[in-house]
Amino acid sequence: MPLPTRILARSRALQQRAESFLPGGVDSPVRAFRAVGGDPPFVERAEGAFLWDVDGNRYLDFFGSWGPMIQGHAFPPVVEAIQNAATRGASFGASHAGEANLAELVQRCFPSIEKLRFVSSGTEACMSAIRLARGFTGRKFVLKFEGCYHGHADALLVKAGSGVATFGIPGSAGVPEETAMHTLALPYNDLAAVEQAFATHPGQIACIIVEPVVGNAGTILPATGYLEGLRALATEHGALLILDEVMTGFRLSLGGAQELFSIRPDLTTLGKIVGGGLPVGAFGGRAEVMDFLAPLGPVYQAGTLSGNPLAMAAGISQLQHLIDHADVIYPKLEATTKAIATGVEALAHAAGIPLTTNRIGSMFTWFFTGQPVNDFEDAATSDTAAFARFHRAMLDAGVWLPPSQYEAAFISTAHGTDEIEFTLAAARQAFSL
Ligand code: PMP
Repeated sequence: MPLPTRILARSRALQQRAESFLPGGVDSPVRAFRAVGGDPPFVERAEGAFLWDVDGNRYLDFFGSWGPMIQGHAFPPVVEAIQNAATRGASFGASHAGEANLAELVQRCFPSIEKLRFVSSGTEACMSAIRLARGFTGRKFVLKFEGCYHGHADALLVKAGSGVATFGIPGSAGVPEETAMHTLALPYNDLAAVEQAFATHPGQIACIIVEPVVGNAGTILPATGYLEGLRALATEHGALLILDEVMTGFRLSLGGAQELFSIRPDLTTLGKIVGGGLPVGAFGGRAEVMDFLAPLGPVYQAGTLSGNPLAMAAGISQLQHLIDHADVIYPKLEATTKAIATGVEALAHAAGIPLTTNRIGSMFTWFFTGQPVNDFEDAATSDTAAFARFHRAMLDAGVWLPPSQYEAAFISTAHGTDEIEFTLAAARQAFSL
């Protein structure tokens, strides 16, 4: 693959400055380029499908702020909603109509969410959902899957995906063994392992938490019958099923993976798209479970900035637009992403490079492996050095992919025919075809 030619002098200087104040120069490890090498561009602005860095380079964006930007950056209705809300005050610490208005839109898309609570991140949503599941069932154990990431709460970092997998941190330092000992991490797509866990810990498992489609080990699809199997086993053993739809919610369809696969969870966690790019998460589900939360019930959960008026306004604007135009948006996302994912795959194969593409709707991963990827162990067969070379070559050609093999790429409605062509040309160059 050709050597990088882009000038990133200003970005490099800003990175050095950032490193003197922020560990690794970042506020979230997944933004670092350690796994792929090269300089991380510093973003000056973003619009539609593109990011511009401080050196004036333009990049076609393939991570969309890790998911929220489903309608592209600086989407005018969302910008306007935020501007209008900002003139009325940035935060109240008191109730306002926007909270129920956004909740109602969420519920229209997710009928399983009878009641919900807004938080400020996906981490908080998942952390709170498992506390609630433990409080409701009176049980201790949490069942999760290898390579799934549910935020950075202590109990959920066991064998996690995303940055934990990228940087090879098997269990984070600073999490006492006693805190993680009630987390069971099993291989994804293996129902027998789940049955076994219920048999080994009868009456002790509070919940199963799962990414219905995994994004955080790279994209991994559920095998036929897998999610139905989890639903049935949870019900049989009196555990709650929590679908973590932080990535998949409003992306795979308006009603997320649960609509696509017809699964009704007890609880759902949401983030990313629901906030239109502002810091929002949510967890919700069966009313009798949700009413276990304070102030009605004994499970405590709170947040100074929860239901923030700017964030609610952004979320309302984004969801309303998705709802109003769903018949156009989701088929377009499907067609664009399919063209990009299969087009690049064909180019890799033409260059004799083993590549497995996992895709569903507008999320996908190109795994640099010759074998199918159905769980984290399969994903880990990828040639991460080859991925890193590809990442650098694509960046140099103006396409910014997530900087890790263990992440999903996201396409927006702002990506169109020109962007497909641009990506294929970049890949041809990257594979030196
Ligand atoms: N769950 C899933 C499925 C996620 O992908 C993420 C973040 N990538 C989270 C939870 C945590 O969300 P946040 O980064 O907003 O805390």
